[in-house]
Amino acid sequence: MAATSLYQSSYPPQLTPEQQEYLATTVHEWTITNGLVVRLRSANGAAEDSETSHAGTIPITLFPSRFPADCFLEALEIQTAYNRLYAAVASDEEWLGRVVQELAPIDSFIAKLWEIHETVKAEGYVQDLSFGLFRSDYMVHYPETQERPTIKQVEINVNSAAFGGLAPQVTSLHRYLNSVNAYPESASSTIRAGSLPPNPSTERIVAGLAATHAAYGPSPSNHPLCIVLIVQDIERNVFDQKHLELSLFSETKANVFRLPFTQVLQHTRLDTERRLLYSPPAFPDRIYEVSTVYFRAGQSPDEYNEVTWEARTHLERSRAIKCPSVLLHLAGFKKVQQILATPDSPHLARFLAAERECERVRATFAPMYPMDMSLDGLKGREMATNPEIAKRFVLKPQREAGGNNIYRGAIPAFLQNVPESQWPGYVLMEMIEPPAQRNAILRDGELQSGGVICELGVWGTVLWRRTDQGIEVLKNDEAGYLLRTKSDQSEEGGVAAGFGSLDSVCLVDV
Ligand code: ADP
Ligand code: MG
Repeated sequence: MAATSLYQSSYPPQLTPEQQEYLATTVHEWTITNGLVVRLRSANGAAEDSETSHAGTIPITLFPSRFPADCFLEALEIQTAYNRLYAAVASDEEWLGRVVQELAPIDSFIAKLWEIHETVKAEGYVQDLSFGLFRSDYMVHYPETQERPTIKQVEINVNSAAFGGLAPQVTSLHRYLNSVNAYPESASSTIRAGSLPPNPSTERIVAGLAATHAAYGPSPSNHPLCIVLIVQDIERNVFDQKHLELSLFSETKANVFRLPFTQVLQHTRLDTERRLLYSPPAFPDRIYEVSTVYFRAGQSPDEYNEVTWEARTHLERSRAIKCPSVLLHLAGFKKVQQILATPDSPHLARFLAAERECERVRATFAPMYPMDMSLDGLKGREMATNPEIAKRFVLKPQREAGGNNIYRGAIPAFLQNVPESQWPGYVLMEMIEPPAQRNAILRDGELQSGGVICELGVWGTVLWRRTDQGIEVLKNDEAGYLLRTKSDQSEEGGVAAGFGSLDSVCLVDV
């Protein structure tokens, strides 16, 4: 069958213990030298939070994974359409409001986000620009019945998506290992026969943020402009963010400050024009005006309490350009993806005018179903509660960051313990069937070799203005990629959540 032509190979080869040791040491030294690292956990499992805590190699594959070239190119090429799509959804308050209306009674997190929008709207928004930094995640779908592999979207991330600052380093590492002949000859020749494409994710994400900063325009307040990164109190993936911060500073010459979500109210205030003014704790006399607020926190309900809800409202009221705004955050919920991806859904055409573009985006959808009382929802409920049929599906709540989904056979029993009134908060999605392949993952000094599943993320940046007629897109770019690879024994894929590892693509023709 077709699947064998791509993946049934001896790649990567078995390594001798000496080769393993040599590769692991070379990887470790390279990653420390180049900052392809995460903060290590302390002995009790908590992330270290002090500046002096240690960093170590991020979980990573020893070899680049083979990936079908045409799937890769298609995913890159449609990113600007996805950017426009989600900019349009986030700006269509009426449509989004109807989605929220269904979820708000059973999901207080979504209800509260919408409430912030309504509060700011009542007062009047003072910023009509929005910036989206997206990562659209895909798997290669290659069931036996299909002649060629295609890509199917797992989800799109609009808030706090990670690893744009580290991904290019993985390509550099794998290229380095190949060029210094650290791989056995059979692996080198496979890699030479394919190609390791450049990955410009850091520079392009930074270009998007820098354009946003520039679009904010000069300040009449005479305060220097700055960019603020809203961060979690404890962040292991800090070096991914640092690569972006340092590069953003080089590009803009504006200070990029890290501000914990919990401390927003302490260190910022709004002036009479609702400019967001920031004073760094180390120099409380200095005042900066914030052009851009880039969230790397605040995507999950467990990060919210009275103080952080107020902080989120405060930031939304401000003149700073938000990445993401509250409306964009709402557009990123899986419910929106499901509405677009339900078979025969008419909704996509509302947001993407060009028919060819619609078709290409639609081709990346895996079928998704609601779990409400609509006709499609009744179909979803029937499939999810049938033990045989449920095996082909994953059930997802409106949550991010890994560890929330219910897979296959576990779905019917899970639903038995959820009151039916809560079912509309879930979406049901057909499982994507990636082809079998192998790799070796280095995690916490240990090497695991075996079957793996790859997930490709494509970055997109889009800056747009809301107008009375709709939206005016000012800048729209595909911004490089991320490959995450996990053991095929795990359904979940998150690197931070402890399942996945960073990887790079070796493109091959099928
Ligand atoms: P999260 O917001 O938690 O990242 P995802 O939708 O990305 O949620 O799902 C988490 C993981 O579950 C993915 O990284 C992927 O490994 C797996 N997964 C999700 N949906 C599918 C699917 N339709 N087919 C196969 N695997 C999936
Ligand atoms: Mg995900």
